[in-house]
Amino acid sequence: MSIGKYFTIAELTVTKSGLPNIPNQAETDALTELVKNVLDPLRELFGKPIHVNSGFRSAEVNRLANGVPTSQHCKGEAADLDCDNNLLLFQLIRDNLVFDQVISESGTPEAPAWVHVSYKKLGNRGERLRMENGKYTKL
Ligand SMILES: [Zn+2]
Repeated sequence: MSIGKYFTIAELTVTKSGLPNIPNQAETDALTELVKNVLDPLRELFGKPIHVNSGFRSAEVNRLANGVPTSQHCKGEAADLDCDNNLLLFQLIRDNLVFDQVISESGTPEAPAWVHVSYKKLGNRGERLRMENGKYTKL
């Protein structure tokens, strides 16, 4: 089943844990907002498919992924993205879209291993961060 133009619910609930990972209605609504406001427009700006490492995570899946309990992934508000130019993804989000947080994660500042992005219905902070060895710094 697709959400928006370019993404599917399967892509946004993918997990290697083997556990069920099924969003409820509120979480599905949040994923839909994330796709509509961030992922679909980002896909158009980037012009090529973008791989989702992790989108929605149930509490159990999040625990296995060592996510913090308050993770926006558990609300359906966040996705971790990976493609052949993660720095460009980060910049496209930062410069063109409304978002809550965008985080350049691991790897190097020039080539992050992945990009975390989140979107909320209300009160998007537009926060830009770099995460290295579990430490977050503002950009
Ligand atoms: Zn994330």
